[in-house]
Amino acid sequence: MARAFIGFGGNIGDTRQIITDAIVCLALRSELQILAKSCFYQSAPLEATGDDYINAVIEIETELTPYGLLHVCQVIEKEFGRERPYSNAPRTLDLDILSFEGVTQNETELMLPHPRMVERSFVLLPLLEIAPDFFLPNLGALKHYLPKVADQKIEKLPCRNCNCGEKAVYSPASH
Ligand code: AMP
Repeated sequence: MARAFIGFGGNIGDTRQIITDAIVCLALRSELQILAKSCFYQSAPLEATGDDYINAVIEIETELTPYGLLHVCQVIEKEFGRERPYSNAPRTLDLDILSFEGVTQNETELMLPHPRMVERSFVLLPLLEIAPDFFLPNLGALKHYLPKVADQKIEKLPCRNCNCGEKAVYSPASH
């Protein structure tokens, strides 16, 4: 079994609901278990156009290979109407494998860890919320990258039905 982190994002439609439904789709698959889910975050588009994005990150445990997990992620993106008319186009749902335990590779089809994860507040904040001491061998502790993304506009959204997001989390302002 390997631990992996998946990032979600979207800016077309009711993205909170779309991401929630996509996580349920993942949870129903026997090849993986969901270990943790971050709160939702609202972020300004980065190198992209359109409305603000909604983002979240989950931690999973899986018996899938990295490419097997990529295939599952792409099937789910398609089920939720993802289209790719042009690079960085607005999207209903984007799933990125952020890291897959023990795997470092630089193949175009699947780069691991995700090459831009430490440059994006919409990845770092939700990831550090569920894994505050997350560490990658070649990059070190991810919390040290927070100051570099402090200028990227992002807001943590309150949970609608519970207080799970009330615990202290990393924020760019405090680093
Ligand atoms: P995007 O437009 O952001 O959804 O990019 C999707 C493309 O990135 C697909 O062709 C994937 O094969 C490729 N890709 C490379 N590395 C990753 C990764 N770590 N997670 C998800 N997709 C990836």
